[in-house]
Amino acid sequence: MTALAELSCPTADSAFSAGDVAALPAVLPVVGSDTLVPLVDGRSVPYANLDVAASAPALRSVADRVTEVLPLYASVHRGAGYLSQVSTALYEAARRTVGSFVGAREDDVTVVTRNTTDSLNLLAGCVPANPDGTPGRVLVLDVEHHANLLPWQRSGGATVLAGGVSVAETLSGLRAELARFDYALLAVTGASNVTGESLPVADVVRIAHDAGARVVLDGAQLVPHRGFSLAETGVDYVAFSGHKTYAPFGAGALVGRRDWLDAGTPYLAGGGAVRQVRVDGTDWQPAPARHEAGSPNVVGAVALAAACDALAGLDPAALHAHEATLRAALVAGLSALDGVQVVSVWPDAVDPVGVVTFSVTGHDPGLVAAYLSAEHGIGVRDGRFCAHPLLARLGYDEGAIRASVGVGTSGAEVVRLVDAVRAYVEEGPQVRYAVVDGCWTVVDDPRPVPAGSGLEGLFATAAAGFLADAAGCGPAD
Ligand code: PMP
Repeated sequence: MTALAELSCPTADSAFSAGDVAALPAVLPVVGSDTLVPLVDGRSVPYANLDVAASAPALRSVADRVTEVLPLYASVHRGAGYLSQVSTALYEAARRTVGSFVGAREDDVTVVTRNTTDSLNLLAGCVPANPDGTPGRVLVLDVEHHANLLPWQRSGGATVLAGGVSVAETLSGLRAELARFDYALLAVTGASNVTGESLPVADVVRIAHDAGARVVLDGAQLVPHRGFSLAETGVDYVAFSGHKTYAPFGAGALVGRRDWLDAGTPYLAGGGAVRQVRVDGTDWQPAPARHEAGSPNVVGAVALAAACDALAGLDPAALHAHEATLRAALVAGLSALDGVQVVSVWPDAVDPVGVVTFSVTGHDPGLVAAYLSAEHGIGVRDGRFCAHPLLARLGYDEGAIRASVGVGTSGAEVVRLVDAVRAYVEEGPQVRYAVVDGCWTVVDDPRPVPAGSGLEGLFATAAAGFLADAAGCGPAD
């Protein structure tokens, strides 16, 4: 086996042997890596989860930690019982761990949220208004995931700027726009969920701060894949999701400067967020309680903290080498195939994370994705990746296919994908597919419903529709 340390950090152009990549093991064990899935030819193969950018499998250590704390679980914050106090301590300790994982400064606040979408919506209610009472201005690029676009559009203060064709052009566009108005905030992706590419964070922060604007980083794709520090970068806020950070237990986080969070609109109105309620008004708590009304997600927070601990314990160079090798193998392998294009927003971006989007000319992305699942047991994402403006600008209105990797991905899985796309390009699919309710499905799909899933009583086989139901297909989202 190739030792991780022997691999340099390759770029898409560097030479490495397919054998090396195929032998590359996962960095950390994840739950489900040995789950078998059925193929249309009757065989079963281990599921190749190359959709980690959408939701990552739980780390084994996270699942173990959850099992460990469940017997200690009880009500939090208001309970007098012994286990209530233990649970409260676990929740607050998790908050501290999550904050430190992203380099929170001493006075920063960590709000436990549901996910990145929740975090950014919360922050949108905290951007100070302009002196004339109009909504504070927020500058955002058209490359963003909808989670980092729609909250700002809805708050009424957003300007959406088209990204440039290079990093340099995009940075100068941002600089020029920030000079035109008094922006309160620049909302920018830490890594694109379409291409894995990003702008250099130090330049973004300098440009924004020089113009008097704060920076919020959409860390959904960055934080699980790279070390990130608010204190070191000067970024003002970061948002990220537990389910993309190998902790799929319903918690995410918003971490950053206290003043806006203390003064902003309480995100949820209800118990726990208040100091005093009268019939004619309410005194709200400062952050984080101000934004965490209702019973908090203790197990989710503990799981997210366990994932943060596990990732923080890895050698950053080894983590980086693993992901860079897998990404380079995907880019090199896919772009060498006839009719396959790999999508890029900023070809000059440095150090993209392990997300690779591609198209097969003349072939519907939904069909290719259905084929990869049905004939190869590989899970990818197809569609427009909740980034409609970007896909439209790049000419992918019909969507594309995205493969993404993480600490639980092995080189063999990446090689399987490249081989499967090659077989598709050279020989085409081996069974018939049709669009049913907007979703590509196998005609007369023979794959059984998984035993023990609880779905057996509801559907006889995949042909009976459970896959289409589960896919929730429709217009490529
Ligand atoms: N931003 C980016 C870059 C993402 O990839 C995603 C999820 N695909 C989100 C935001 C939204 O994350 P969540 O669904 O966990 O709120």
